[in-house]
Amino acid sequence: MSNTGWADKLNPTVRAVKPSGIRRFFDLATETKGIISLGVGEPDFVTPWHVREACIFSLEQGYTNYTPNSGLLPLRREIARYTADFLGLEYSPEAEVLVTVGVSEALDLALRAVVAPGDEVLIPEPCYVSYLPCTALAGGVPVPVSTGIEKGFRVSAADLERAATPRTKALLLCYPNNPTGAIMPRAELQAIAEFCAAHDLVVIADEIYAQLTYEGEHVCFASFPGMRDRTILLQGFSKAFAMTGWRVGYALSNADFIGAMTKIHQYTMLCAPVTAQMAALEALKNGREEMSRMVREFSYRRRLVIKAFSEMGLPCFNPGGAFYAFPDITGTGLSSDDFTERLIREEKVAVVPGNAFGDCGEGFIRCSYAASVEELNEAFKRMRRFVEHYRSVNRSRKSERMRVGEPL
Ligand code: PLP
Repeated sequence: MSNTGWADKLNPTVRAVKPSGIRRFFDLATETKGIISLGVGEPDFVTPWHVREACIFSLEQGYTNYTPNSGLLPLRREIARYTADFLGLEYSPEAEVLVTVGVSEALDLALRAVVAPGDEVLIPEPCYVSYLPCTALAGGVPVPVSTGIEKGFRVSAADLERAATPRTKALLLCYPNNPTGAIMPRAELQAIAEFCAAHDLVVIADEIYAQLTYEGEHVCFASFPGMRDRTILLQGFSKAFAMTGWRVGYALSNADFIGAMTKIHQYTMLCAPVTAQMAALEALKNGREEMSRMVREFSYRRRLVIKAFSEMGLPCFNPGGAFYAFPDITGTGLSSDDFTERLIREEKVAVVPGNAFGDCGEGFIRCSYAASVEELNEAFKRMRRFVEHYRSVNRSRKSERMRVGEPL
């Protein structure tokens, strides 16, 4: 952090927010030559050509102006059609759809629209890095709810019940999950829906990875009886359509929630970039086949990655969605931070320490498989060497401790 003597002028809430735990590793990774990065959460595919071409054509046609605050109406109509096809849910393009600058903005708007100072937000962990800071920046109190490998990183209604208080206002759900890849079976989501109804909670459902579900079908939280209007459903183009740099996402909910979010968006962002909206429209209209091709490729790589970790002897939870594996690295005797830092320095492979996603992520690493098969194979060759080395160091350390009678 810089220190120019002006920090005391800052809003104390902003000062208290910690910078993302991922950043340090990205900086290390970009400074290191010959690195293979399995750290970033973005597809290695370039946005399909027909989408890029639609954007270029829109510029040729002179689409360079502001759009309506909620987004281009043809795009909102296409989003509503796609949502009806994909999830079986109906939303009014005029009142219940808001186009945002990525899911990142949609998440911030949703929190700011519903959270009043001191309201508590239940957040199952490990979770995406922005959930806790954005809740705090909205004036809310993030309440992490730990999940663990023994429960397949799925939060249960009972876990949430234990964490709920009279101040609980909202629940933030993310399935398929970043960083674990966990998905939720229908029955468990049903129990959570009943919990939300009983406590009268608003649910922010970040389903940005919905299309990247490899085992069974994605179950949308808003599809449970009574949950459509209680839920702010977040979806986007970054992951499934390989459009991270375009910065387009959207939110779907009842007209009150969307109206309030639009009000904030109107004063802070005005609208999402028109060229990106034109590209997103093309992606929805004609990009579904290409998306399925990418999903098939991720599914193939997922099997490769699970097999590689199991051959390395690192227990790896079976991720049903997204494009991350979350193996247990405790057998190496290294902490998540040590493992990650040494792996970059010694073998030039970048992954993310599990504790960047919450304390219960300690002892794990997040490894993205949105990289080519060649890169994955090379990265696993290096990682295997690394793991074998540290496992044997750990074994000798343990037997030495046993020999001198120290606790293990
Ligand atoms: N939500 C989750 C769970 C993510 O993993 C990410 C990006 O990694 C985002 C939101 C942000 O997505 P966007 O690029 O649409 O802002």
